[in-house]
Amino acid sequence: MNKCPIAKKCGGCQLQNLSYDEQLSLKQSRVIRLVGKYCHVDEIIGMDEPFHYRNKATHALSFRSGRIISGIYQSATRRVVEADSCLLEDEYSCKIVQTVKRLCIDFKIKAYDLNTGRGFFRHVMVRRSAGTKQIMVVLVTAKGDFPKKREFVDALIKRHSDITTVVWNINPTDTPLFLGSKSETLYGDGYITDSLCGLVFRISPRSFYQVNTLQTEVLYGKVREFASLSHSETVIDAYCGTGTIGLTLARDAKRVIGVELNGDSVKDAIENASINGIKNAEFINGDAGEYMQSLAEGKERVDTVITDPPRAGCSRQFLESLLALSPKKVVYVSCNPETLSRDLFTLRKGGYRVKKIQPVDMFPHTEHIETVVLLERSV
Ligand code: SAH
Repeated sequence: MNKCPIAKKCGGCQLQNLSYDEQLSLKQSRVIRLVGKYCHVDEIIGMDEPFHYRNKATHALSFRSGRIISGIYQSATRRVVEADSCLLEDEYSCKIVQTVKRLCIDFKIKAYDLNTGRGFFRHVMVRRSAGTKQIMVVLVTAKGDFPKKREFVDALIKRHSDITTVVWNINPTDTPLFLGSKSETLYGDGYITDSLCGLVFRISPRSFYQVNTLQTEVLYGKVREFASLSHSETVIDAYCGTGTIGLTLARDAKRVIGVELNGDSVKDAIENASINGIKNAEFINGDAGEYMQSLAEGKERVDTVITDPPRAGCSRQFLESLLALSPKKVVYVSCNPETLSRDLFTLRKGGYRVKKIQPVDMFPHTEHIETVVLLERSV
C-alpha cells in the first residue's frame, strides 16, 4: 500500500508499495545476484526512520486552473505533479516552499509555464542542515526584474526567522534545467554549512552534496573502516565531488589527492579543506581516467584508491591505469550494482581480490542501491 497519495503520478518512489523490510530484502537480493559471486554480501544497512531523510526540497511552481501550484516537475510530460509535501523531503523545508507559494499569490507574481515561456517564478529549493540548523532558500525565476524582491524576502524571513540565506537564481532557458548560471544573494552569505563526520562543509546553491546526511555518515564510516589507513598512505579520492570522502579520511592518511570533473565542486573541495584546517589534501580538476593515467605514466606511488563514480561506473582508462598503479587497496563506492559488477570483473582479472561488500540504503523507497566494496591486491 502506498503511503503517499501521489506516488503513482510522481514516480519518484518506485518501491513505496513495499514495506521498508521488503524494500531492504529486495535490494539485498539484487546486490547478491549481481556481485554475490565475488564475495559474501554483508546485510544492507537500512534507516531506523526511512522518511523525510532528504536534506533538500526542490519544488517547481506552475499555474493550473487559475491558481498557482507547487510540486514535482516531471521531465517526461513537462508537467508539474501537484504536491504540497513529500514523504522523503525534510518537512520543515516543504513548509517554507508553501510559504513561498503563498507569497507569490500575495505579491501577484506569476508562475512560469515551460510550454508557453510565460510567467516568472520557476522553482524553489530549500536545503536544511540537521546538524547546524542552517537553512538556504534558492528562488529560481525566469529572466527579468524580480518585482519588490526586498519586500518579498523580508516577508519570507518574517514568517521563518530561522532562514540563514536567500539566493535568487535566474534561469532564462526554456529547458527544464533547474538552476541558471546567474545568482544574486538577497539575504545572508549565499551559502550554508553542514556538519558531516566531525567536519564542516560549505554548501552553495550549485554544489553537489549528498542528500541523506545520516546515511552518508554510515557510508563514509564504512569507507573509512575498509580503507583502515595508518597515517602513512597516499590516497586518491577519485570522482571526489566536493571532497567529502577524501577530507574525512585526511586525518588518517599522509596525503589525499581528490580528482573531479566539475570545476565548481573542486572549488568547494578546496574551500572545505581550508575551513577544516586540512593541509594534506589537494584537489585536481579533470577527468579521473586521464589523471590516473598520468599518475601511472609518472610511476607515482599510490597506496589506496577510493573511487565513487557516477552510474556509468569507472572508465576503461581509469581501470587500466588503476591496475598499472597497483595500489594495495581499492575502496569502490557504487551507486549502480550493474556497472559495479562489470568493474569488479575487470579488477579481479587484473589481480585484485574482493574482500568485503556492504550495501547501504541511502535512498529508501526508491530503487537506488549504494554499495561499498573493499578490494585488495592479491600479491
Ligand atoms: N564522492 C562524492 C561525489 C560522488 S558523485 C561524494 O560522496 O559526495 C560522482 C562525481 O563524479 C560527481 O561529482 C561528478 O561530477 C564526478 N564525475 C563524473 N564524471 C567524471 C569524470 N570523468 N572524472 C572525474 N569526475 C567525474
